[in-house]
Amino acid sequence: MVEPLRPSQQASDSELDNSSLKIGVLALQGDFIEHIHMFEKLGVSAIEVRKPSQLADLDGLVIPGGESTTIVKLANMFGFVPELRAFVDDGRALWGTCAGMIVIANELTDSYPEPLKLMDICVSRNWFGRQVDSFEDKFEFRGLDGDPFLAVFIRAPVVEGVGDGVEVIAQLEDGRPVAVKSENTLATAFHPELTDDTRVHDYFVAMVREAARQRAGLS
Ligand code: GLN
Repeated sequence: MVEPLRPSQQASDSELDNSSLKIGVLALQGDFIEHIHMFEKLGVSAIEVRKPSQLADLDGLVIPGGESTTIVKLANMFGFVPELRAFVDDGRALWGTCAGMIVIANELTDSYPEPLKLMDICVSRNWFGRQVDSFEDKFEFRGLDGDPFLAVFIRAPVVEGVGDGVEVIAQLEDGRPVAVKSENTLATAFHPELTDDTRVHDYFVAMVREAARQRAGLS
């Protein structure tokens, strides 16, 4: 089980700066290294998570892009599923990118894999077609300052529906949702870790910080 924070481990407000936050990236398959490099650029320590016991120390977790069937299979094989559920129920921050978005969905329009049901969204895999149909697009990402975000889509999924408490924060021109957020969970159909733009990682770090503050009773 994920251990709750003991009072002695609880952070005071001033301690919750980027260098004290602990973020993990699920390193079973996919482009976890690229996420770790993005967090390093922001001065946040990020570790590769290969065992469920590593979740206990983390404030936030990313499930990266890759191949969702493989990630689900390995997550089941290594006993991650109940621990991930406990992680989310404990109010820690979770972000799924591309395959990660498929993995965390409550529901898929596809017959497999069986998603882990960690976020109340319905997702369609490979919505834009095959690998050759990968593309880049620019759009407003609510909550990011500056220019529209240039996003990389690789055999990307799309969000078909969201449940209560999940808001759409980025859409393509045709209105298709490609980034959604609930209180502690973020999902993006694209790959911010494959660009030089750290704004979405910074956005997630702010979510992690807020979740840590809540859990420490600071807000
Ligand atoms: N299409 C892949 C899947 O279904 C996801 C692709 C990606 O993560 N870039 O898992």
